[in-house]
Amino acid sequence: MDRSTVNVFFDEVMLGHNPEVDLPFLPSRVEKRVRAVLEGLDFKWSYPEHPGRLIEIKSYLEEHPIEGVHFKSGPPATYDQLARVHTASYLDYILSLKGKRAWLDKDTTAVSPDSITAALSASGNAIAAVESVVKGECDSAFALVRPPGHHAEPVRARGFCLINNVAVAASHAIAKLGCEKVLIIDWDAHHGNGTQDIFWADPNVLFFDTHCAAPFYPGSGDLDEVGEGLGEGYTINVPLPETAGDVAFEKVFREILVPAADHFEPDLVLVSAGFDPHRNDMALNLTFDGFKVITSIVQDIAKKHCDGKLALVLEGGYNLTSLSHGVHAVLEVLTGGEVPEVFEMGVKDAAAAAEFHRSAFSDDE
Ligand SMILES: [Zn+2]
Repeated sequence: MDRSTVNVFFDEVMLGHNPEVDLPFLPSRVEKRVRAVLEGLDFKWSYPEHPGRLIEIKSYLEEHPIEGVHFKSGPPATYDQLARVHTASYLDYILSLKGKRAWLDKDTTAVSPDSITAALSASGNAIAAVESVVKGECDSAFALVRPPGHHAEPVRARGFCLINNVAVAASHAIAKLGCEKVLIIDWDAHHGNGTQDIFWADPNVLFFDTHCAAPFYPGSGDLDEVGEGLGEGYTINVPLPETAGDVAFEKVFREILVPAADHFEPDLVLVSAGFDPHRNDMALNLTFDGFKVITSIVQDIAKKHCDGKLALVLEGGYNLTSLSHGVHAVLEVLTGGEVPEVFEMGVKDAAAAAEFHRSAFSDDE
C-alpha cells in the first residue's frame, strides 16, 4: 500500500522552556488553607507542561518509526507573524521576558530564561508545518511544539500558553500563502478560548472545538458561543461530559463537523491536537482507536475540500504514555495506516464473552 508522507516539525530549542517551580508562587486556585499546608511541607508546585513531553514523543517515534514520517524544523516566528494575532504591547511584554523567570498568569503560566526562544520556535514550526502542506512538500504535517498555544489570547498568556501557535499559522496561511478559508479543529480536552477569541468575528476561519464542558478549565465554550458580527456561525463549540469517549466523538465529528466543513469548504485544515482527552489523561474518555477515527474523519475533510492540505499543531497531553502513543496513532493514520472501528467501551469484550459462554446454555451442538 502507498504510504502518504507526513513532515513532523520539531526543534530542540523548545525543550528550553522549563518553568521550574522554585518560584515563590502557587496558583491562586489553590485554596488558602491548602496553600498553608503545602508551604509547611516545603511543597514545590510541579509544572505539568514540561520538556519531558516532547522528549517522550520524539523518543517513542524513534523507537517505533513510521514509514512516511520525515522530521524537519522551521525558523522561529517573526514579530510581524505574531502581530497578526497578538497586540504589539503584549508582544513587547512577552519579548521583554527573554532571559528571565516569571509568572505571567495565575492560571499556571510561567516562563524560564529560554521560554521566549521556545515560544517563538513553537509558532515558527507551526508556520513551517502549514507552509510545507500548502506548498505540496508532503501530504500532511504535524508540528510537535511547546509551549502550547490555544489558551493564549491577543493580550494575555493563559493556561501554559504564551503565543497562540495555531492562530499564528492560520493567519500566516491567509496573509501569505493564498488561503482564503481555514478550518481549525480543536480536539484538546480544554476549550481553545484563545483561538475562539482571535477569530470570533472572522468569517474566514471556521473554528470547531470539542472539549470537556465547564466548569472544567477554562470554563468557556458553551454551545451558544457561535461568534459575532461577520463571524456569527463560524465558531462551533461542542462541550461534552467527562464520560464522552470514542463513540461520542465519532458522532460529533461525523454529524456536526463534516456537514459544517461541507458548508464552509475550507482550503486548508488545521488541528489543535491535544492528547489530554485520552482516557488516561486529564478529562474525557478517548482511546487510541478513537484518536485514529477522528484523525481519519479530519483527513477525509481535507481530501474532499482542499487536496488533503492538513496540518496538526500539538496542544496539551500530560500523561507521557498516552501522549506519545497518541501522537504515534495519529501519525499512523496520516501516513495511510488502517482505521479501526470504534465501540462503546467494553462492548467488544462483552460480545466475545457471550460467544465463549453461549454453548454452555444451549442444547445445540
Ligand atoms: Zn488541554
